[in-house]
Amino acid sequence: MTQIQATLKQYCRQEAQTAELAKRFAGSLGQFIQQNPAAHLNISLEGDLGAGKTTFARYLIQSLGYAGKVKSPTYTLCEPYSLTTQQHTFTAHHFDLYRMRDPLEWHEAGFAEYFDVPGFCLIEWPEKAEGTLPEFDIQIQLMAGTQEDERNIVLNALSELGKKVLENIQAIPN
Ligand code: ADP
Ligand code: MG
Repeated sequence: MTQIQATLKQYCRQEAQTAELAKRFAGSLGQFIQQNPAAHLNISLEGDLGAGKTTFARYLIQSLGYAGKVKSPTYTLCEPYSLTTQQHTFTAHHFDLYRMRDPLEWHEAGFAEYFDVPGFCLIEWPEKAEGTLPEFDIQIQLMAGTQEDERNIVLNALSELGKKVLENIQAIPN
């Protein structure tokens, strides 16, 4: 069995650093998608309420070229974003499963097909689905620090695809 090992730990003193990390992540992810236009990645966003999951998702989607508003999919469960690389179109599906009353509500809503389309799914509160989601490629954990705007963000590769994306990201010097 191959060992997947790629982890990036980033201390963010303020929101600008979270934005910069999301931008670096977007750069590597966009490059990966350009080279693998049929690929799909699943990315989890984990952390308490207010940790910055939606904020990270917003900076990520906007760094990939989306010019409109990225709102929290709190009520819709999922918001799609059509994005492009130089040659290809792909889709980001941004989920917030916090309000699900049943672990399989995402499936009953017809969202399973989104896990196959070229691009990626970003999922806030994956734990609400209680392990019924497809495997994740990258896990993003956000934790509050002692100061109001401090966050510690950990990016973990959970698959070989995820590892390829994370390997190309440089941490931000503090
Ligand atoms: P979640 O989706 O995890 O519930 P949100 O992204 O909706 O959290 O909210 C995070 C809040 O914290 C936003 O108001 C954001 O402006 C603020 N914030 C302050 N500092 C940071 C930081 N370093 N990284 C991310 N968000 C931050
Ligand atoms: Mg949120």
